[in-house]
Parts: sequence; C-alpha cells; structure tokens
Amino acid sequence: MTLATYASDPSKTRGRRFAESVAPTRTDYQRDRDRIVHSTAFRRLVYKTQVFLNHEGDLFRTRLTHSLEVAQLSRSIARPLGLNEDLVEAVALAHDLGHTPFGHAGQDALNECMAPHGGFEHNLQSLRVVDQLEERYPAYDGLNLTFETREGILKHCSHRNAELIDQSEPGGVGRRFLDRSQPSLEAQLCNLADAIAYNAHDIDDGVRSGLITMVQLQSVELFERYRVEALVEFPDLAEPSRARRLLYETIRRMLSAQVYDVIAATRQSLLKAAPASADEARLAGPLLRFSPAMHAQSTALKQFLFAQLYRHPQVMQMTGQAQIVVRELFEAYTAQPSEMPAEHAARPDAARAVADYIAGMTDRFAGREHERLTGRKLL
Ligand code: MG
Repeated sequence: MTLATYASDPSKTRGRRFAESVAPTRTDYQRDRDRIVHSTAFRRLVYKTQVFLNHEGDLFRTRLTHSLEVAQLSRSIARPLGLNEDLVEAVALAHDLGHTPFGHAGQDALNECMAPHGGFEHNLQSLRVVDQLEERYPAYDGLNLTFETREGILKHCSHRNAELIDQSEPGGVGRRFLDRSQPSLEAQLCNLADAIAYNAHDIDDGVRSGLITMVQLQSVELFERYRVEALVEFPDLAEPSRARRLLYETIRRMLSAQVYDVIAATRQSLLKAAPASADEARLAGPLLRFSPAMHAQSTALKQFLFAQLYRHPQVMQMTGQAQIVVRELFEAYTAQPSEMPAEHAARPDAARAVADYIAGMTDRFAGREHERLTGRKLL
C-alpha cells in the first residue's frame, strides 16, 4: 500500500489512550480493525435494523452488512487516492457500533427518554462503545483504539457534547467540533461512503420489500440514467422476468459512477489544496467530495428515499411500535434496575446505565425483553 503525503500514516499516529507496545507484524490501524471485528458490539450488528426490522426478512440489510458495504466502498476509493485502507476499514466497520436496536426509531425514542440526562446520540455512543463499554482487556475498559480511528468514529457531535469530551480529553476527538477543523481524509471518506452505501442498498431493499417500485424510481435522475444505460446495452432486461437483474445492474452502475466521481473530484480538490501531511489536510476544509453535479443527484436520491421509503406508512407503523418497545424498556429498567444484569444495575449513573444497556441490544433481544417485562408482544 503506497500512502500519499496527506494520508494517515500509522507510524505517526497520535496513539492510544493507554500506551501499548507495538505489534510485530501489524500496524496500529490494522490492530484497531482487528479489535473492532472481534468486539461484542460488532457481532451484535448482525441483528440490528438498518431500515427494515430484522425479523421482516432475511435478505434486508442489517447494520452489519451495511457496515461491510461501507468498508468495501471506502477501500475502493482509498486505494487510488493513496489513503490508508486499514484506517478506512477500521472506521467503516466501527461507524455504527453505537446504534440502538430498531434503527433511527430506536435512537429517537432513547434520545427522548434521556433528554433530562444529557440525551442520546448514536455517534457518541459508538465512541462510548470503543472507549468504555467493551470489556475485553485486563488493564482498561474499551478497545483502546488509536486517536485516528476514534476521530473517524465520532462523525457528528453536538457542541455541548464536544465541550464535555474536550474537558475530559483536552485537544482530543471533541476538539474539531469546537475549532471547526476536519477529521482525517480517511474519516471524511467513510462519511461519504456511508451515504453512497445506504442510498444504493436502500433502493434494493425498498424494491424488494415492495414499498417502492422501479416505476417510482424513474423520477430519480441518478437511477434513471443508469437504468436506461443498462437497457440500451442489455435490451432483454426489459422483460419482467429479468426485472431483478435490471435493478442490480442499475445499482451497480450507479455505485461505480459515484465511486469514480468521488475519486476524480477529490483528486482535483487535493491538487488544489496540496496538503503536505494528514494534519494539513485536516485544516484545509472538506476535501473528500462529489463533483457538484453528482452531489445534487445524490441529494435528490436521498430526498426520494426519505419521502417514499423512510416515511412510508408501513415503515412508520413498525417504527412506531419499536419506539414503544424502547420507551417501555427504559421505564421498566428505571423502575426496577435489578431486571438488568448486575453490572448495569450497580452503576451510579442509573439513567445512562439503562441507556447503555438498551443501546447495546439487538432487535430481537429488545423484543424478547419487552415481552418478558410487560407481557405484551408488539413486534
Ligand atoms: Mg451507516
């Protein structure tokens, strides 16, 4: 792997919170990636909702398959740009570790429950998972990841929370939200790859579920252009029996176009800004980007999915049920902490302990716990 001057270089890492000896054959970012893959929170992603609740079908994306797709896209873009593939992989695989069960519905419900106690943000929770909640090492809590991986995991953060992080870790991962600098180029890349991934796979899952149709998607420029292109090259894809292949071929072309667009547009912005190091890149404004035309098309697709899929009455009804499950779990554990495992029940920060416990649950465990505690089966 040939690193560009502006790439994150593991030999120049800002290091880990607890000093460790170097590994004989792996770089620090490889070690981070390996720690993430072996973590408990990572395995739980397989039973956590992306958009469709886990029990609605076996082929829908879950947080795990989504994270793998983000890692794949990130690596595909990182290599031609000379960025650090190990770091993008680590950040991509960890970026959703803090997600609650039931996707954004779960996160919104938990955030409401936690409003009097500092709220709940899934990005911040991802950082809590790798910094504090994983229990794997004898000498410290968390996974003790490098600054660069932690920086990439904390994708967004409120000003208030950034101040709190900066108090406990001066000049650390909260700082950039206060001085408005950028994270590493690798972190910027994962952020963009996240959107490319969900825009594509949510089309696939949306059509599979029957909630959106190929006909509706023809109003989306980014989709329609490649659907037509695919049909010109393979006219037999117009046959109803080949509709699924037409969908896949369209999505495949869309993905390639976005990947090549990001590479070309970013090469230009890197040429112009000419950062001599990863730290100079952090101060140069966002450099990882789409071309303006692709940015507009990607935004239009996102808006389509928001209106037609994420706000679909059938999705809204399921997410409404999921929010009740999270709220009632929160109430039940708050009233009776002994219903949680002893290590959660014993914590002095009772509300945060309940939030951490619920946030760590898979969809199906949350559903089972809710049934056990309330006697009602909502999902
Ligand atoms: Mg994501």
